[in-house]
Amino acid sequence: MTKIVKCRYKYCKHDSRELPKEEAVLVGKSSYYHKDCLKESTLIDKIIEMYSERVEKNPIYSHLRKTVNDLVIKDKIDAEFLYFALDYASSKKMIKHVPGLRYIVKNDDIKRLWEKKKTAEFMRSEKSKPQQYVNNTTREFTFKAPKQKTIASLFK
Ligand SMILES: [Zn+2]
Repeated sequence: MTKIVKCRYKYCKHDSRELPKEEAVLVGKSSYYHKDCLKESTLIDKIIEMYSERVEKNPIYSHLRKTVNDLVIKDKIDAEFLYFALDYASSKKMIKHVPGLRYIVKNDDIKRLWEKKKTAEFMRSEKSKPQQYVNNTTREFTFKAPKQKTIASLFK
C-alpha cells in the first residue's frame, strides 16, 4: 500500500498537497515536500538570508519575506532568477532597500545575464546528453558520401 503524505510548503505549487511517500522529499523527521516545492521554499529562505547578509544587516523581516513571497508566488518570478538577481545586484551595490527587489528583477542587464547563464547551462546539459547531434551529422555525412560516388562514377 502506498502511503500518502502532505506537502508542507505553505504555497504548494501542485493541485493537491497530497502525494505518495516515495515521491516526497523528507526534511527532518516528518516534513514532506514535493521536490519543486522544497526547492522554491529553500531558495526563498536563501534569498532572505543573502539579503540580510549583504544589503541590510537588520531588515524588517516580515516586510522582506512578504516582498520575496509576493514576487515568487504572486508575480511568479522564478525564485532561482530572483536569487541570481540579488546575488548580482548586491555585489554591484545596486540594491539598498527591500523595495529594490522589485526593480532588480526588471533590470535588463540582469535579465540578459540570466539568459546567458541559462543558455550556457542548456548547452552544457546538451553536451552531456548521449551524442544525438553528432550521430545525426555522421548519418548525414555517410548519406552524402554514396551520392558523391555516384556523380563521380558518371564521369568515368
Ligand atoms: Zn507541494
